[in-house]
Amino acid sequence: MIRFNLLCNLNHEFDGWFRDNETFDSQLSASEIQCPMCGSTNVHKALMTPLLGKKSNQKTLQKKPDNQKALVKAMREIRRKVEENADYVGDKFAEEARRIHYKESEDRGIYGETSLEEAKSLSEEGIEIQPLPLLPEDQN
Ligand SMILES: [Zn+2]
Repeated sequence: MIRFNLLCNLNHEFDGWFRDNETFDSQLSASEIQCPMCGSTNVHKALMTPLLGKKSNQKTLQKKPDNQKALVKAMREIRRKVEENADYVGDKFAEEARRIHYKESEDRGIYGETSLEEAKSLSEEGIEIQPLPLLPEDQN
């Protein structure tokens, strides 16, 4: 079993258990995965990125503007920065985050997908990661 960190199109964060990655994909395409908060079946695996540097980054991310437009703008800014400066590593995320942490790989920003277990064990090893916000233009 594998547990994924998921986001719906309204950025509700939740998690789900799946037998494997393929089961997840087939349930997703059959619209069988629903957000427990709003019932949306427009669901994605949360993209994760290591939390780099200072606490102030974290604060910016957590301070959510009230206004929806400003919120989307702020999320877009975070995504843009990550996508410009980081390598997409897909499901090799945990592996690569670890290699960078232990200086076995080039020190750089990365983003990608990981299971909740991996996210948890990364954080136990002192590698803090955060979900990337999902943007309206991701919803196709
Ligand atoms: Zn939702």
